[in-house]
Amino acid sequence: MSTKRRIYLSKSRFQNGRQCRKRLWLEVHRRDLIQVSDASQARFDEGNHFGELARELLGGGPAIEAGPLDAERAQAETRALLELSVQQVPRIFEAAFEHDGVRIRADAVLRGAANNELVEVKSRTSVKGEYLWDCAVQAWVMRGAGLPLGRIHVGHVNNQFVLEREDDYSGLLIKVDVTGEVEPLIPEVPGIVGELKAVMKGNEPVIATGRHCGEPHPCPFTDYCKSQEPEEPDYPVSILPHGGKLVEQLKRDGFLDLRDVPEERLSNERHIRVARASRNAEAIISPELVDALGALAFPRYYLDYETIGPVVPRWIGTKPFQQVPFQFSCHIEQADGSIGHREFLDISGNAPMQGLVDALISACGTTGPILVWSRSFEAGRTREMAAWFPHKAAALNAIVERMVDLLPIFRDFYYHPAQMGSWSIKKVLPTIAPELDYADLEVSNGGMAQQAWREAAHPDISPERKQQLRAAMLKYCERDTWAMVKLARWRPW
Ligand code: SF4
Repeated sequence: MSTKRRIYLSKSRFQNGRQCRKRLWLEVHRRDLIQVSDASQARFDEGNHFGELARELLGGGPAIEAGPLDAERAQAETRALLELSVQQVPRIFEAAFEHDGVRIRADAVLRGAANNELVEVKSRTSVKGEYLWDCAVQAWVMRGAGLPLGRIHVGHVNNQFVLEREDDYSGLLIKVDVTGEVEPLIPEVPGIVGELKAVMKGNEPVIATGRHCGEPHPCPFTDYCKSQEPEEPDYPVSILPHGGKLVEQLKRDGFLDLRDVPEERLSNERHIRVARASRNAEAIISPELVDALGALAFPRYYLDYETIGPVVPRWIGTKPFQQVPFQFSCHIEQADGSIGHREFLDISGNAPMQGLVDALISACGTTGPILVWSRSFEAGRTREMAAWFPHKAAALNAIVERMVDLLPIFRDFYYHPAQMGSWSIKKVLPTIAPELDYADLEVSNGGMAQQAWREAAHPDISPERKQQLRAAMLKYCERDTWAMVKLARWRPW
């Protein structure tokens, strides 16, 4: 008797297999290779939070308790609920169905006398193409399992929602009827299912990495797949900023090393600079850099925010995904070279905006440029705070008016090959002040700062850990503005 374990497809395996056959195979056979980034984990946690809230917003009802690894019990629980009348159980969440080797859990089944409806819940703000396939495979399984299914919906986040009363999230979820788009896909599902089953049973597919690894979702096997491929050249063509189709075409034409690409193949001025600097292994610095930096008046303020943008708004007046500043660092440089520092950080979990606005206005004085890296972000957040606090709007709008962006100055007049096609401050800084990297910091990027905030603001955190996180977050944000000081003071000759 064969003891071989049967391998099932699931909704996520179906989707991951559509993205890449190798990804599906690895998920089934080499789960030990999965590497989930902090950003992906944070998105996942946020999605779960919205998913739980969506149940209430759809009217509430029983959710199948058996976990994802206990499909048989989940299906038995589902059958038991379906035997009860629609009046007794009008909605079922996480209902489990199986058909032809595919097991799915439906986010929400809205029951009706003759027909049921499916709602696929997504913590995004619009209906994306891949969601239709999520719905199609579920509809195919549900009907195959004998459940009459009529309308099909995607329930997504309403990006116009504003939290006006504490815990009142009515209106946060938008239900979009996608039946018309999904029905034509359903006949294609069995063919894809058959193909994916063959992939799961076969050997590891040989598929090169490419754009598909990030679309529609970043693949957690990227490190593994890259490790199987020949080592990349020091300056791969993929470093061309926003290279997209051009990079794909260059690769198809056999150009892997940017240094080998004839200059006539490049038309974008930045691409040409990146390629030249890579080829010559030296920085390209325009005289205008010195002029632009020298023209900045004193006192100079160097400002940086850290923000958090939860799917489910936490504070009155905020929208889903709205980036709310909870921290800033501000270095202040006088004409005589002396430096001061002001900062703010709120990890209480309460609305941080009022405290931050007061501290910001006090820190920024009334004259002198406020230097930022990528102005649209800091300016956008400051304008939003002006809208929240109309009585402080004049002072906040004056801060916006004084903001000067260091990024375009460096992007237009400076490029070092070690930047690898990027002008993020973390790429530029080590080429000018190598002693100032971020490797010694516990929190060393914006995503980690958000993770740290979530942990620090959690009610169960210990005071010691909270203090440790606070210190790490302050150090990180201060490093960002100190980096700007170093860059603005730098003179190449
Ligand atoms: S990294 Fe790319 S090639 Fe490798 S499994 Fe993922 S999607 Fe497929």
